[in-house]
Amino acid sequence: MREYLTQNEQPRTVYGNWGVHYRYTYGVAGERFFRELKDRGHLVASVCPKCRRQFLPPSLYCEDCFVEMTEYVPVEGHGTVYSFTVLRESLDETPLATPIVAALVQFDGVAGGLLAPLQGVSPDKVEIGMKVRAAIRAEKATASIADLSWVPA
Ligand SMILES: [Zn+2]
Repeated sequence: MREYLTQNEQPRTVYGNWGVHYRYTYGVAGERFFRELKDRGHLVASVCPKCRRQFLPPSLYCEDCFVEMTEYVPVEGHGTVYSFTVLRESLDETPLATPIVAALVQFDGVAGGLLAPLQGVSPDKVEIGMKVRAAIRAEKATASIADLSWVPA
């Protein structure tokens, strides 16, 4: 027998387990980005065919022109620390033996930026504007953002 709500003023409690299954995908542009990172060891940006702006992380559509982007180009050179934070605890609030610097890095001529750990720099020495380069894991790459970190340039 089905019940139909005829009054919506009173909340109703439904007991039981709801099986929620999902699969997260990177999407078309994200898939390309992570495949290039894992298989070729470099960063790629998507390029708008109309305005020629480059986007990192890659996007499927240009946010200005609303046209699909299917061209990808390697992102070369040194990036610049745009912002950073220092992590001193894990997600379960356990103190970390070594603090982690998470840096948002941008590249000249490329819109957007990527967040990844900055290695080899003491947290008190990190500065906005410092030059870094990508250090991409070659061994046991996982095609995830865990394959990427920054090191001083
Ligand atoms: Zn565009």
